[in-house]
Amino acid sequence: MMGTGRNASAALEVHQFPCLEDNYGYLLRDAATGLTAAVDTPDAAAILRELDRHGWRLDFILNTHHHGDHAGGNLELKARTGCRIIGARADAARIPGLDVGLGEGEVFEFGTRRARVLETPGHTVGHIVYVFDADGAAFVGDTLFAMGCGRLFEGTPAQMWDSLGKLLALPDDTRLYCAHEYTQKNARFALTLEPANADLVARAAAVDRLRAQGLPTVPTTVGEERRTNPFLRADSAALQASLGLAGTDPVTVFAEARRRRNAF
Ligand code: ZN
Ligand code: FE
Repeated sequence: MMGTGRNASAALEVHQFPCLEDNYGYLLRDAATGLTAAVDTPDAAAILRELDRHGWRLDFILNTHHHGDHAGGNLELKARTGCRIIGARADAARIPGLDVGLGEGEVFEFGTRRARVLETPGHTVGHIVYVFDADGAAFVGDTLFAMGCGRLFEGTPAQMWDSLGKLLALPDDTRLYCAHEYTQKNARFALTLEPANADLVARAAAVDRLRAQGLPTVPTTVGEERRTNPFLRADSAALQASLGLAGTDPVTVFAEARRRRNAF
């Protein structure tokens, strides 16, 4: 039943489910209009199953980037549901079935909810993030993970540092919905860089408890990441010292942290 007991100011509903090896699928629902959107398409069958279970019809796909575990289900879902596909205009050639291309600062109207697009090159050159400002939620794809960030497959360290800065500029209580459950390994790596960071030590323990119960550690928040994510802390004296790079520019520090994470 749509709309019963709700009003047009109802917040964005986020339905999160694990799929593939370590991806999260997300179905977004605007309760006021009953519109439904999938953030990325890691697994078309899993998404169709979730839609079915709730009796929802798919209206939109919001792609963050072109990788197969994010856009691989686009064409099948479009064929089966007639949904429209939204993604980065800059990556139109690599996003299967793209209908609407968006760039920095442009807005996607999702019923009564609004998503603002941030361009966050680094993991791929055409990566974008969807920020639902009024709902305090951002869908960050493979740009940021809890205590981590995406590998630099296409972009430069300077681009990724700038992209992460855009996320850090969001309010501290903004929920960041990342596309993978990589948190436990990220925490172990972060502790090698900042063993004396009390927030990090406490968070790593909390993450271990959640994972032992099979529970997700995503979403995270901007505030939590600010305190514990080494890739956002390349301008902190503590992190620079631990990498032997005291006083070095943040892009160099970020690049060294990313290099070490690749080998971890
Ligand atoms: Zn990716
Ligand atoms: Fe991915």
